[in-house]
Amino acid sequence: MTNNKLTSVVTGGAGFLGSHLCDFLVAQGHRVVCVDNLLTGNIENIARLRQCADFEFLEHDITHHLDLPGPVRFIFHFASPASPIDYLRLPIQTLKVGALGTHNALGLARAKGATLLLASTSEVYGDPLVHPQPESYWGNVNPIGPRGVYDEAKRFAEAITMAYHRSHGVSTRIVRIFNTYGPRMRHNDGRVVPAFIKQALSGRPLTVFGDGSQTRSFCYVDDLIRGIYALALSDMSDPVNIGNPREMSVLEFATKIIQLTGCATPIRYEPLPVDDPRVRQPDITRARELLHWSPQVDLEEGLGRTIDYFRQVFDGNGF
Ligand code: UDP
Repeated sequence: MTNNKLTSVVTGGAGFLGSHLCDFLVAQGHRVVCVDNLLTGNIENIARLRQCADFEFLEHDITHHLDLPGPVRFIFHFASPASPIDYLRLPIQTLKVGALGTHNALGLARAKGATLLLASTSEVYGDPLVHPQPESYWGNVNPIGPRGVYDEAKRFAEAITMAYHRSHGVSTRIVRIFNTYGPRMRHNDGRVVPAFIKQALSGRPLTVFGDGSQTRSFCYVDDLIRGIYALALSDMSDPVNIGNPREMSVLEFATKIIQLTGCATPIRYEPLPVDDPRVRQPDITRARELLHWSPQVDLEEGLGRTIDYFRQVFDGNGF
């Protein structure tokens, strides 16, 4: 590894977002240490990076203490199960990585004098009563429902991040990430984008939960990563929403996937999961004004790239 570069640590660096962030940081000239326990991450996501002199992979569970040699400039704390079926399957680990994992990441940031950027989530708004959601909204979360393990873990993570900032003067950033999609999503992670694309490409019915009238707003991964990097470089310690405000119902989204894949499969309605938010759309005024950031990749283009990726996965191994 070269010594004259800034070092960034990415926890969860082998995951969907973490690995795209590692790619971006190496391209920006950072030395990157990727920390991941591979619970939901995939070593394949960083296979190419591992050939790179400025990239190091450390298999480690961030819920345990982490010490690293040498200076560190940024810590991007992305480790966590992030898809509803994952955090329902791994409730304790999800709570632990949000609590103990964030505590350890903050401890490392404090020891190194590094800036910590926390990957938070639109789930802190729960099933929102304010629409679209600005950062000033405190949210509507059921703490004891099945989704509460993720929502409350991230809310705690935000709280301890602000406490380290206020009490210890640690430089911190909080990004609230809205639904993001792109290559490297796991085809079986259960989220709506990979689920619908996989179903369409295999000629199976698209499983719309509930009546499909619930809404989401989908951001292409490259746009998100650009926004996160701009936030890291800013001096904003309050939370910032990063997402694409183009909102649509899940049923409209299903129709879009059928159209873009050219696979005329039917729709099958299934029960709505407990506490599934009725609406979700980011208010990105703060990101626009402060970071001069806005999404650039439109849905059709981003989904085109994502569908191409899944076609390759499909051709290579089948699903
Ligand atoms: N959804 C769906 N069919 C699926 C998977 C998800 O209708 O096969 C719905 C889900 O109920 C939610 C939306 O799509 O309303 C987005 O779900 P996802 O799991 O992608 O993420 P969420 O935004 O709920 O965290």
